[in-house]
Parts: sequence; structure tokens; C-alpha cells
Amino acid sequence: MISPKLVLKLAIPTPLRTVFDYLPPVNFNEQDLAALSPGARFKVSFNRQTVMGVYTGIGEPSIPIDKIKAADKLIDSDQAIPHDCLDLSLWAADYYQTPVGEAIHTAIPKALRIPEEPPQKLTKRWRLTTEGMGLHRDSLKRSKKQQKLLHLLLDTASLPEESLKTHEIGKPVAAALEKKGLIEAFYEDSKKAVAETNEQSTSASLFAEAPLELNEEQKAALYAIRFHEYACYLLEGTTGSGKTEVFMQAIAHALQLGKQALILVPEIGLTPQTVDRLRQRFNVPVVELHSGISDKTRFDNWQAAARNQAQIVIGTRLSVFTPFKDLGIIIIDEEHDLSFKQQDGMRYSARDLAIVRASKLGIPLILGSATPALETINNAISGKFHHLKLTRRTGTAQPPAIQLVDMRNQELVNGFAQCSIDAIEATLKRNEQVLIFINRRGYAPAIICQSCGWSVQCKRCDAQMSLHRSPYHLRCHHCDARRAPPKICPQCQSPNLIPQGHGTERTEEFLKAHFSNFEVLRVDRDSMSKKSAMKELVTKVKSGEPCILVGTQMLAKGHHFPKVTLVIIVDADSGLVSGDFRGTERAAQLITQVAGRAGRADEPGTVLLQSYKPSHPFFEKLLNDGYHSLARDLLNTRKLCQLPPYWSMAIFHAESKRAENATAFIQQLKQIATTMIAPQTTCEFLGPIPALLERKEDRLRFQLQIKFQHRAQLQALLKKLVPEIERQAIAKRCRWALDVDPLEVG
Ligand code: ADP
Ligand code: ZN
Ligand code: ZN
Repeated sequence: MISPKLVLKLAIPTPLRTVFDYLPPVNFNEQDLAALSPGARFKVSFNRQTVMGVYTGIGEPSIPIDKIKAADKLIDSDQAIPHDCLDLSLWAADYYQTPVGEAIHTAIPKALRIPEEPPQKLTKRWRLTTEGMGLHRDSLKRSKKQQKLLHLLLDTASLPEESLKTHEIGKPVAAALEKKGLIEAFYEDSKKAVAETNEQSTSASLFAEAPLELNEEQKAALYAIRFHEYACYLLEGTTGSGKTEVFMQAIAHALQLGKQALILVPEIGLTPQTVDRLRQRFNVPVVELHSGISDKTRFDNWQAAARNQAQIVIGTRLSVFTPFKDLGIIIIDEEHDLSFKQQDGMRYSARDLAIVRASKLGIPLILGSATPALETINNAISGKFHHLKLTRRTGTAQPPAIQLVDMRNQELVNGFAQCSIDAIEATLKRNEQVLIFINRRGYAPAIICQSCGWSVQCKRCDAQMSLHRSPYHLRCHHCDARRAPPKICPQCQSPNLIPQGHGTERTEEFLKAHFSNFEVLRVDRDSMSKKSAMKELVTKVKSGEPCILVGTQMLAKGHHFPKVTLVIIVDADSGLVSGDFRGTERAAQLITQVAGRAGRADEPGTVLLQSYKPSHPFFEKLLNDGYHSLARDLLNTRKLCQLPPYWSMAIFHAESKRAENATAFIQQLKQIATTMIAPQTTCEFLGPIPALLERKEDRLRFQLQIKFQHRAQLQALLKKLVPEIERQAIAKRCRWALDVDPLEVG
């Protein structure tokens, strides 16, 4: 029996930042205890509910031992949460100051979050090793059970672990023989999985299609990657410069070393062609991990990675926690994308966790983008990351010509300058395609009364409600509240309520009427809600018929449409006024990404930026010198203003139906923090300040922004501050959250 003074420490998903004490289940013996390793799952009762708790180790009880309950039972017959997944979630819990139980829950598939053993797709079986096969039947006399197992395995080739029970052989018996190197476990699936595993052992069959002959820049990039040690590589290159080809050849290299590969992408639904390209290229199992697949498939794929039955995993941010048998490379495509940062619960950055993971494993991490985040560019400049560049588009494709359209004093046609309309017409007449980028979904961002100026506000948020046409309703884009549009103005009774501004639906309506001979395809969250919608759209656009694409930033992600030769950005100024210090960086990324969708081999594309501030230095820099040069300027400003990436930042968010609860929390937080800071620390506290959207869903939102010159000092403070503030009564009177390395100050 476990020393009566020691208890199991279990992580349980609660907002409390602690692990919980439990006694071992009553039927546990010493061997069961010895076989426990971190990541084992227990069924326990907690607050009168039955939940799953993850074993993190044993330790001294934190409350009197007679008050400690026993866990109900050990859930799994096998190691449940592999160590690499567990280690990374514990690291994340510590760095982001998230409760351990919550961090683990974030990292694992749903099937493992419930206190039951998930249905096993694969069965664990035991067989003799070569050494075991050489044993005489009389061997292992000192343990009757071990000998019995030996006899069973000598008589049949292998045994499912399940069947050991029927022979009254416990799992520790098998474990003991495994330790002696006499037997080994393997997993059996359908015949298919077994066939795949065998196939992969002959490297000749790795490729289903031959890799492309790389150009000089691609070769230089690929040869710079070292596969046996940790390093981060930034692969910077415009859309269509051949980054994906370099990724695939790097993956091939890792596979040839017998290792696995992980590729993180922003959103798989939006970029199905990356998955297709990997499957076309490689003869090994490629599995997906993202929220768009069923929980069961997600769990199967997760396990396939852990057992080396899938050599390539492609997934969204959550897949950074996937367990692997032998991971050899991590790739992050479109590394600047905001979706790699989780914005609620544990607010982790998958990119930063990938760095941690690669360095723990001693493997390379490649970050690819046409518009890398300023943090990443800074790391490349400082030499922390290797900087690899692809400067040319492959083949004869030319970069697009970007022109500003001065919107001042122009007569507008549904939000377009006349020259933009003419350009659309000319492009369609040449049988080419047009892409129109407009950052607002719905019909119009507001409806207003023409007589008195009244507009419909959301009842619960400080925001106007947007008009949607199909179906006809008003919607708040912050809280999703919906209601019917009023027929007359409630303030002056005028019936003249008109839509104001242009969203994707309204622009689509206009273009359909104006260019009635051509197809107009709308791409936004509303039109693309069906899973296969993006795939169908890409197929249609790639077929090459002249058409107009109208859409939001969904269009800026990952796709290359070679037949699109005209791109129009309807409101290029929208990013220039932003409450966020990253506003300009985002605007430059978006414009560059959207512009990159244009152009084909024999004719360069044109990009029109409609702007009321055409002489703004932002445009001059971006258009004349390009994104990278602008980024370096922005970095200089960040340095002067003591902002990330030079200083480290954390934001505490607090919200409550009563503003004073949230502000009092922030005040208290600030006061406690001040007492904890060492005298020589360079840091700044800003708050309580209202959030950009001060009222949302009837809650008033405030924040405290904290900046430190040194990351380690900020981390040290948060480690002390968070447990302390949690004990304060005021913390229970509001909802609060901590965002370490926030990407949006919101
Ligand atoms: P990116 O990922 O940078 O947008 P891709 O790797 O998708 O670029 O390449 C763009 C296009 O160029 C693809 O159609 C790809 O097949 C092709 N391509 C890439 N590298 C080469 C090469 N070395 N030779 C010929 N074509 C290439
Ligand atoms: Zn009115
Ligand atoms: Zn609202």
C-alpha cells in the first residue's frame, strides 16, 4: 500500500489553480501503484459530480487525510495521455497561468475528457520477441504466471491484452516480461493499418508522385535545414514562391529518417488543397486534426499519431498538443495568422508552444509566411531564427502591380470608383477572374433614419446592428443577437430607414445586377458555413470560367487563384485607424495577402486599393518598398514605444454587469502587483481602462495592461500574482481572464 502519508495528485478541470488530493481506489494494490505513471486517468467524484482526473504524481496531502476521498477507479487499461502531450500542457499551464486541469483538457480530445474508457479502434496485443521465442518451456519457473503467459504465447502467435484476464494473468505480469525483453506489445487495427505500416518500411514507396525539381532559392532553403537538432527557420516568400514545395521536401526528409511530421495551418476548411497535396505526394497515412472532424475521428487520428500509425499530421492550433511516437519536424504555414492564438480559456499561442516542443525534442521548426509577424521578423533579424527567403514566384509568374485609387471627390457606384468598375468589366471581357475584398459580411453595417439620424443599436452591446438580407434581419456581430428591422424610426416615426455602407451581401447584389452575364460568388462566414463549401468554391474558381469573387478575409487565406488577374480592396484605409497597436501590421498583412491572390504565369495581375488617404506614408512604404521593409519600420516604432516584441506584455480582462466590480478588481490587482515588484524592475501598468468594446452582452469590460522590459520578470510576477488575486473576494464578483502575450488588446 502507498505510504499512508502520500496521496494521488489529480488534475481536474476547474477554474481553481491547483491539483486535488485523492486516495488510490480501494482495490489498488502496490503493483498497481508502481505501474502508475503521469497521464493516467481516474474516475473520481468531485463536487458531487463524476469527472475525469489526470494523475500528475504523488505527494503530501494538503488537507487532513481522513477528509480525502478515494478515487473510484483507474479508467484506462493503457497509458491514457502520452507524456509528450502531458508535458506540453503542463508547460503551457505554467506559462499562461492556467489551471492545470483546464490546460490538460484543452490539449486532449473529447473522448478522453469523460470518465470512461474510449472505444478502442486498435487492440493491444502481446507477442514474443526473438529472445522470447528462444526460451524453453521450462524457463521462468520462479513465476508461475509469467511461465503461463510464456506458454500461451509459444502456443499462439499473439494474444490480445484483453484476454489475459480470462487466463487470470494480471497486466503487471506482462509488464514484467516486457521489461525483460521477452515479449512486446503491438497494436492491431483493420488489415489496412497493418498494410500501411509495412509499406512504409520500404523507403522506395514513400512517394506517390515525384517531388518537383527545386529552383536555386528553394534548394538553398531546404539545404539550410538541419534535421538532427533544434532550430527555428523563417521561410519568407510571397504567395506562389514555392514554400509548400519546400515544406513537402523537408517532410520527405524527416520521413526518410523514420520520423513523423506535424504541419499546422490556420484553418483546414479554408485550405483543403494543402491536405490534398500531401496525400497526393506521399504514400504514408496523412491524418487531419481540427474541430471540423467528428470527435471519434479526432481521437482515432490522435492515437494514430501517438502510435506511429500516421506519419503526417496536419491540423489547426489544437494539434500542437498531438502526441507522437517520434516527431521529426514541425511546420507552421501562414505563421502570422491570428488563429494560432486561442482567444478564450487557455489563451495559448500554438506557434510559441511549437517552439517549446521543437526545442524539447531537438528537431527543426519551420515557420512559413509571405507576411511574417513582427515578432518572427525580429527573431530572424536578431539571429534567433534562421532566415530563409524565396523572393521570386515560381515559373514566369510576375508579382502583381499595385495601384492606389484616389476616392476623394469621386462619384461612387455602390462603394466603387468608376475606374474600378471599368477595370472589372475589362477583366471579365478578357475571360479572366476578379476578386473583391470587403471586410464586412452582411448587407450593410447599419441602418439609419434618413430624417433624424437614428440607428439601431444592439441592446446588449455598444455596437450598431448589421443588416442581413438572406434571411432579412438585423444582427449584432459581437453577441450574435438577432431581431427584425423596425418599419419606422422609433425616434421620429419616419419610414425612411435606409441601409448605410456596404457589406458582402449588398456588394454581391449590385455586382449580380451590373454584370448579369457573369457568375458572382460570395465568400464569407455565412455563405461558407457548409463544410464542403470552400472546396466546391475552389474547384469552381480553378475551372477558369470568368467570374467575380466577393468576400471577407476568408479569401486572404492560403489560396492561390491563378486565373484571378484583378483584385480590388474596397476600403484599404480600414486598418489605418485602429485602437490596437498591431493595427498597421495587420492592415499591411491583409493587403499583401489579398494582393498575392492575383496573377498568373503569362500576365501579371493588377491590384486596386481604394483609399481616401492615398498619400498616407503607410501606402507609400508598402507599395514602394514592400511588406518586409514596412515591417522593419514598424519594429523601430515598437522599440521606441516599448511595445512587443521588445517588451513583454500581459493583459488582465475583467467584466461585470456592474462596472465598479470590474474596475475595483483591476485596482486591487494593480495594488497587489505593485507590492510584489522588486525595486529595480522596469515595467508599466495601464489600467483600469475600458475595452475597445466597453459593453458586450450587457457586461462592462475593463482591462489592465502590463508591460515588462524582461519576460522573466513578468513571468515571475504573474506566478505570484495570479494565486494571490484568486484568493481575493473581489475576484468572485467579476469574470476575469489573463492573456499572456496578447495578440489583440481588444
Ligand atoms: P507557396 O506555398 O509559396 O504559395 P507553392 O509551393 O504552392 O507556393 O507553389 C506555387 C506553385 O508553383 C504550385 O503550383 C507549385 O506546384 C509550383 N512550384 C513550386 N515549386 C516549383 C518548382 N521548383 N518547379 C516548378 N513548379 C513549382
Ligand atoms: Zn428618425
Ligand atoms: Zn450585441
